[in-house]
Amino acid sequence: MVTSGDSLTRLTPIVETWDKLGAQIGCQLWAVREDLLPFPLPGNKVRKLAAELDGLPPEVDTVVTNGAVDSNHCRTLAIMAASRGLRVHLVLHGSAGALSAGQGAALALLEGCGASWDVGPAQSIGDRIQSAVQDLGNRGCQVHVVAGGCHTPQGARATMKAAKAVLAETTVDQIFVASGTGATQGGILAATHSLGLSTQVIGVSVARTSDRGAGPVRDAAAWCGVPNTEPVFVDDYRAGGYGLSNSSIDLAVETGWQLGIPLDPTYTGKAMAALLDYGKKGLLADRVMFWHTGGLWNWISGQLSISGSQS
Ligand SMILES: *Cc1c(COP(=O)(O)O)cnc(C)c1O
Repeated sequence: MVTSGDSLTRLTPIVETWDKLGAQIGCQLWAVREDLLPFPLPGNKVRKLAAELDGLPPEVDTVVTNGAVDSNHCRTLAIMAASRGLRVHLVLHGSAGALSAGQGAALALLEGCGASWDVGPAQSIGDRIQSAVQDLGNRGCQVHVVAGGCHTPQGARATMKAAKAVLAETTVDQIFVASGTGATQGGILAATHSLGLSTQVIGVSVARTSDRGAGPVRDAAAWCGVPNTEPVFVDDYRAGGYGLSNSSIDLAVETGWQLGIPLDPTYTGKAMAALLDYGKKGLLADRVMFWHTGGLWNWISGQLSISGSQS
């Protein structure tokens, strides 16, 4: 089958059963493999960003966004924009002086895709976006700023569409998903509501505490036409914050790889740690789904940095 790049939002999600792991933890288990989309370094950012770019007015020739040096959002946008002939500027946070091997590789990829970037402290992101937009505008560019993590209405709706396609065929009682900005969880949550399902969508925080994390999930569901939801946003597996890990997350990542399931400690390992822990505590329903959001680069990047610091 021949496809064009802009058909990414129409891709049917890949759903598989994970019988072995399901038997281990005591449930029927399905996985949605957003990590296997036909896109380089795939993950949940592919659907969100494809929808965002599809929705741009034709005069836009430049996109600006922000994220960490090693951000999947920035990386996916750089690749996708290159394939569409759009110019990209990335406002990155991190310390430019002390790059790990993984971060160095991340910047090399952005550069390879023709993206420009600046790196600085997180506190200056707003100012740096503003000056990038002004500078590009002065050079005659038609600029669109994409919210960090593609936490946007288009992004949430694209995820809702995918989740509706999945849930129309396979109904489950619980869905586990790694939740950051909340657009992915909000889209899935909106799908369950709009299909009239009582499925519990368990967002496993990768960064924020629940007092800060639940609101943006609710916003994302509202963008999908489902206001006033009460998101389940669990912050017990965040290991203290973004990019941090602990032994139960490391064990979850290991458990996944031993079954041929690629996981990473920054995102999917936290969701898997929650799934395993719910299993141990007898909290799993009969029919459970794991929404796999990607993150393979994050695992590799972490390994590069570990071996780099040991040599
Ligand atoms: C960005 C990201 C998430 C979080 O998605 P949100 O929509 O921001 O909540 C989860 N997993 C991976 C691998 C990601 O890159």
